[in-house]
Amino acid sequence: MLGPPGAGKGTQAERISISYSVPHISTGDIFRENLRQGTALGLKAKEYMDRGELVPDALVIDIVKDRLENPDCRDGFILDGFPRTVAQADALKGMLSEMGIYIDHVLNIQVPQDVVVKRLTARRTCGSCGSIYHLLYDPPRVEGVCDDCGGELYRRDDDSEETVLARLEEYAGKTQPLIEYYSREGLLWDIDGSAEPDEVFEEIRATVAG
Ligand code: AMP
Repeated sequence: MLGPPGAGKGTQAERISISYSVPHISTGDIFRENLRQGTALGLKAKEYMDRGELVPDALVIDIVKDRLENPDCRDGFILDGFPRTVAQADALKGMLSEMGIYIDHVLNIQVPQDVVVKRLTARRTCGSCGSIYHLLYDPPRVEGVCDDCGGELYRRDDDSEETVLARLEEYAGKTQPLIEYYSREGLLWDIDGSAEPDEVFEEIRATVAG
């Protein structure tokens, strides 16, 4: 799944995961979980995440390789937030060809920059289950509490306006070239991410069923 931060990749990847019974693999979630557990990987990643920068390729590629070797990936998976650089995409190609797995679709979720900034600065995330809310458009029933699991909602450190702008720059410089990369391979599908989450998901379903 490609798209700028705040495009709704996490929300849609979660729906895909449930609907198609495939694991949702989010490199950002893996880093945040490592940070919660205080691992060396989590602490290293935090240095970059807090500045809105991408974590170095070598760190990311190894964790994805490990994760894809888990047997739950045998019948498919949805990758959210990986690859984010051409080097990562090349590494992914190598891993998948060794495993005899092929990418079916690359979904490019498109959202204008001003919408993304508004979404991210008002985003709240559940610390327990990862559910995502928006203070204005999709608030929780009880302030600060997750509707799904009762967990505590928090604002991601990297969702401040300043860091969001840095993340958008990283996206434009390092991740956007993947649009051309996957388009050349005939795998890219544009999805309008500015619609309501239900509508976006319908477009994804239609594309995947295509
Ligand atoms: P996300 O939750 O996908 O928005 O990712 C949050 C942050 O984790 C990003 O801003 C990066 O600092 C880091 N990150 C997640 N995935 C990657 C990746 N594939 N490559 C480099 N950094 C990543």
